[in-house]
Amino acid sequence: MFSFKKNYNLFGKITLSIIKPDAVEKGYSISILSKIIDAGFHIIALKMMELSKKSAFIFYEEHKEKYFFDSLIEFMSSGPIISSILKKENAVKDFRILIGDTNPINAKKGTIRNLYATSLEKNAIHGSDSNKNAFKECQFFFPIEKFYYK
Ligand code: ATP
Ligand code: MG
Repeated sequence: MFSFKKNYNLFGKITLSIIKPDAVEKGYSISILSKIIDAGFHIIALKMMELSKKSAFIFYEEHKEKYFFDSLIEFMSSGPIISSILKKENAVKDFRILIGDTNPINAKKGTIRNLYATSLEKNAIHGSDSNKNAFKECQFFFPIEKFYYK
């Protein structure tokens, strides 16, 4: 298992990204990954996969009381996604800036959601919202003991 203690030196320097099913389906994955790399993030883990409904439920459990939850679970398990761990100083904060507002209507010009999102739900990409959640989410997708990165 990925260990928080063994990877304490990465705390504050990693975030979890998910290119969501809408963006993968439309063929935006490589353009989005290029944008992420150009912004100075190092991809230290990467995989393409499909989420089961159960996994999507667990991942977004904090929203389980919200009116959009069932639809969100349906959407996130509707097709392939690309999840990755990104490393950079201030990774969480800087990545949230790069992806833009949750609602693409409010996302600043040039942000990933501004460029590639379709709607408030189908908003192309996920980014962790705190350093603590980043570690939890990285562990969820990549349950490995150690990230090999110089
Ligand atoms: P994410 O966690 O995916 O990075 P976020 O942190 O910007 O997004 P959250 O509030 O955590 O936003 O919402 C999780 C996801 O649920 C959103 O990215 C979006 O796909 C969906 N969502 C949020 N609010 C709504 C809403 N009002 N209607 C429909 N879908 C929504
Ligand atoms: Mg969120």
